[in-house]
Amino acid sequence: MAYVFRGGIMFKDGKSEGGEDDLRRFSPEALTLHAEGEPFVHIGDSVFRGQPIAAGVHSPVSGTVADIAVAPGGVNITLSSDGENTLFPGLLKMHKKLAECSPDEIIEKIRDAGIVGMGGETGSVADRLADVTGRADVCIISCAEREPYVTCDLAALLARPAAVVNGLKIFLRALGVHRGVIAVPEGSAEAINKLSELTKNSSMITLLKTSRKYPAGDLRRLVYSYTGRELEPGADTAALGCVIFNVQTCIAVYDAFVTGLPSVSRVVTVGGDCFTKIYNFEVPVGTRIDELIRAAGDMCAEPALILNGGPLRGVICKTDGVVEKTTRAILLFSRNTVGDGNTDISPVCIRCGRCVRYCPERLMPNRIYECIRDGKDEAAVSAGALRCVGCGICSYICPGKAPVTELIAELRRRHADGKGDDSETENEKKPEVTGSDND
Ligand code: SF4
Ligand code: SF4
Repeated sequence: MAYVFRGGIMFKDGKSEGGEDDLRRFSPEALTLHAEGEPFVHIGDSVFRGQPIAAGVHSPVSGTVADIAVAPGGVNITLSSDGENTLFPGLLKMHKKLAECSPDEIIEKIRDAGIVGMGGETGSVADRLADVTGRADVCIISCAEREPYVTCDLAALLARPAAVVNGLKIFLRALGVHRGVIAVPEGSAEAINKLSELTKNSSMITLLKTSRKYPAGDLRRLVYSYTGRELEPGADTAALGCVIFNVQTCIAVYDAFVTGLPSVSRVVTVGGDCFTKIYNFEVPVGTRIDELIRAAGDMCAEPALILNGGPLRGVICKTDGVVEKTTRAILLFSRNTVGDGNTDISPVCIRCGRCVRYCPERLMPNRIYECIRDGKDEAAVSAGALRCVGCGICSYICPGKAPVTELIAELRRRHADGKGDDSETENEKKPEVTGSDND
């Protein structure tokens, strides 16, 4: 039985189980990657899949370099794919058995592969491993879905459960620990069955069923559901002996170890009420978002809002942007869901108390909102604003359209910077998305 936390939302709709048949592969004809340093390639050069083309940047396809253009912070390298995905001959897989590898060798392999967190955490995985070594005694691989519609992690797990289990063993070896956990939403029967079969003889790996309520995948709830102990707000999960990685990060580590392939692709969900179903695509990093949307096929409604990420935490998306290593979902919503976009309506708190009821941190978001709105930052901090995990529920369910999450996020930034900041954020510009909120 999964740990059921107070607050949070159980979504009635928008979810699908995904599944191996549902995971499609999409290979664009051209893609663009950003590099901060000098590229190693020139226009017209041939490239292979996995080939380094700049410091920390690898080609996701085989083909040719079509263009190199100066861009803010570096250059944009456009590649033309030959559709073959021929692997770079210089890829170096780990030639030793796992038990013969030192933690340092594994961490360097992960660093060379350019693997970053592909879920909520987005920094260098090698740095994170080095940082928590000696402090963490359990490694948790999380497939706990975080937002409605977003099923990319479950689709990746269902397609490659053995890579997840073996990737976790690589993490355990790198950390020098013997306890591994795979967190899966309860009710995901197919995933649980596959993982149970693969781990039935393992004394090191256990499954942790998590609630289907949002935000069960949040670090504080995930750590509590395993340890039974409350993580202090803002504290590192290693304070309670845990380090958590996303399931797609785990698959990328497995691939780097076994084939030498760097992190060059990921699973992205394409969905929203403009489609009749949810799609999960394995796509090369650098794929244009508008091409990915077209690959999903015909829409049943005109999009009024396109989000990069889920409906609660996502940001408004530019369709001429590209898929990054951290892109989880591209969601398209119609006016039926987001309304007419009328921004003349003044946000107001009607004191309905819904945000208090659903806040998973047991805060009073309405009180914090009023403090910040009235310029009383210290009072907002005293009311617990810094404990907010930014789940977005209070804004999502507010009938008065009060931008509670957004104001709290601004306060947290001001607090972290130690200075004022009244710049507009992406979230501020996002129209409200309505939906079911029954628990
Ligand atoms: S949900 Fe909105 S209207 Fe209701 S109490 Fe919270 S801030 Fe006020
Ligand atoms: S965004 Fe913060 S205040 Fe709002 S419901 Fe989530 S944790 Fe509570």
